[in-house]
Amino acid sequence: MKLIILGPPGSGKGTVSERLAKDFNLLHISVGDLLRKEEKKKTELGKEIKSYIDKGNLVPHQMAVDIAKKAIGKKKNFIFDGFPRSVDQARSIEELDIDAVIYLDVQEKEVIKRLSGRLLDPVTGKTYHRQYLPPPKGIEKRLVHRKDDTPKVIKERFKVYHRETEPVIMYYQKKGILKKIDGDGKPEEVYERIRKAVIKIR
Ligand code: AMP
Repeated sequence: MKLIILGPPGSGKGTVSERLAKDFNLLHISVGDLLRKEEKKKTELGKEIKSYIDKGNLVPHQMAVDIAKKAIGKKKNFIFDGFPRSVDQARSIEELDIDAVIYLDVQEKEVIKRLSGRLLDPVTGKTYHRQYLPPPKGIEKRLVHRKDDTPKVIKERFKVYHRETEPVIMYYQKKGILKKIDGDGKPEEVYERIRKAVIKIR
């Protein structure tokens, strides 16, 4: 099964795709996570990546596509999280024959609330939330806010989302493989809606 999960920043793509990966035995590919890993190495490439992420902009087209394709390797069961983020990126993975695209539909007001309480574990790369997804005991002290979760950068990420990523939703809708899921509500309820939709795809 080859899946894509799309949605605005803070819609829960990361958390949902991690769970789907476990439940359906898929490789979870988050281009954002892979970029942050490279950034941490502080290489020349890492510094370049940082300059895009910190401003809330997308990294260059070819860089995102190369990272995503390399991550798949020979795997036939995977879920792309936050990729493709533009129609050009979507066109460049046409040959992969994606089975379904899950679109997490969440109100902008709600995701802004979620983003402001979001915490990142720099050791594992996992994301938690003060209220909705509290971290396990003992790791609270090492958790940090993502640098791109500040009001100014969030605003820019939404601009980019509306301009570049929303057309991707239409692109897959036209292909007839888009599954729109109501992303409002408790994480457990949202996940159950998605799990049921994925079972139907299988
Ligand atoms: P995320 O963790 O998915 O919120 O991504 C964090 C940041 O990584 C984004 O704001 C972009 O700067 C970059 N990024 C992630 N995925 C992509 C992509 N598919 N294309 C370009 N840039 C990306």
